[in-house]
Amino acid sequence: MNNFKERTGRMPLLFVGHGSPMYAIEENEFADGWKQLGKLIPLPEAVLCISAHWETEGTYVTAMEKPETIHDFYGFPKQLFDVVYPAPGSPLLAELSKHAIKSADVNLDYKWGLDHGCWAVLRNIYPGADIPVVQLSLDLTRAPEWHYELGKELSVLRNKGVLIIGSGNIVHNLRLLDWNNKNGGFDWAEEINEKIKKLILEENHKELINYISLGNAAKLAAPTPEHYLPLLYILGMKEKNEEPAFFNDKTVMGSLSMTSVLYGN
Ligand code: ZN
Repeated sequence: MNNFKERTGRMPLLFVGHGSPMYAIEENEFADGWKQLGKLIPLPEAVLCISAHWETEGTYVTAMEKPETIHDFYGFPKQLFDVVYPAPGSPLLAELSKHAIKSADVNLDYKWGLDHGCWAVLRNIYPGADIPVVQLSLDLTRAPEWHYELGKELSVLRNKGVLIIGSGNIVHNLRLLDWNNKNGGFDWAEEINEKIKKLILEENHKELINYISLGNAAKLAAPTPEHYLPLLYILGMKEKNEEPAFFNDKTVMGSLSMTSVLYGN
């Protein structure tokens, strides 16, 4: 049992594009990227994951000892429904997260668990399921700026050995998906993905927070906000001197980008 003592080094920060739930169990380049990442970054005491798939009114953090694996999707093969990711929870990290956040009343949750935004990625990064995992919900009653600021409040956990992961997709339009175009994106999807990367490199967080004003391509990329918002937490948390490293940087099935960002490694 660890106590999340202060460490000398800050843990890296991660935004991951999680894409199709199938990527969790397939051998593919994205799963390879996640596997490599697990070997590249320092081993954390625990993971705090902000997943696109836990949308709430108010802010919640999972506080159970043993979070369930949630199969929050339909129409996929049984093999995917059989996946269990038995990582322990961390009631202590849930408490620490609650105390770190001053701008909202954080509720301890005992009903959720780990959704596929979280386990699809983690079962590849930490296949042993031996690192405790806590999830933080997305309060969808709040504006993008609020999510960015909340990220700042969580950054203290980086000094205590916590790996913070935002899991979503920069481009995520399921209605427009082109299943026959496995390895490419529509022009607008490539364009907005490049634009977002450029703004990340330039540290233009103001425009990234107001992404909807980036035009029609941004509206198509994020017809609903939940897959984009986890990126704002990570941007809010980064320190001034930390440079982004992009990986899994690819647009697939027309309207889905897997582009992922690592800071501080
Ligand atoms: Zn998703």
